[in-house]
Amino acid sequence: MKLKKLTMAEKLSMLDGCQEVPFTGEFDQTFDRGVYVCRRCGAHLFKSEHKFDAHCGWPAFDKEMRGAVKKEPDPDGKRTAIACKRCGAHLGHVFIGERFTKTNTRHCVNSLAMRFMPNGKRISTPVRRDKHTEVIQNGVIIDADNQEEKY
Ligand SMILES: [Zn+2]
Repeated sequence: MKLKKLTMAEKLSMLDGCQEVPFTGEFDQTFDRGVYVCRRCGAHLFKSEHKFDAHCGWPAFDKEMRGAVKKEPDPDGKRTAIACKRCGAHLGHVFIGERFTKTNTRHCVNSLAMRFMPNGKRISTPVRRDKHTEVIQNGVIIDADNQEEKY
């Protein structure tokens, strides 16, 4: 399996389970047609037709591509975390029973964990920001790029 080199923010999100700061993610308001793939291994995860605006600040999908994600209990003991089935990278959480859509399911996914492949086009290059990317670690917003390398 070929894995992409990750930025510090991507590592904190995909390997450490940090959440991106709500309403800051690259794909929160993306509704173009295409497929969302794992930023680390490239596995196809979600289709754009299953994306909806949950107004929660993170990309939301009411269905995953078959067999693409695995569910595991979150260390917080309450939520259900989701990970890429192929490479094991953390993607976000799944919530059942909120009645947003017919499937009654919301996959709440960090933009940092995905790349977008618009229909008929090549895969998107991630947005390079001038400012540092912030993530939430243990409930505290931190500047991801100023963290010590620990991977
Ligand atoms: Zn993956």
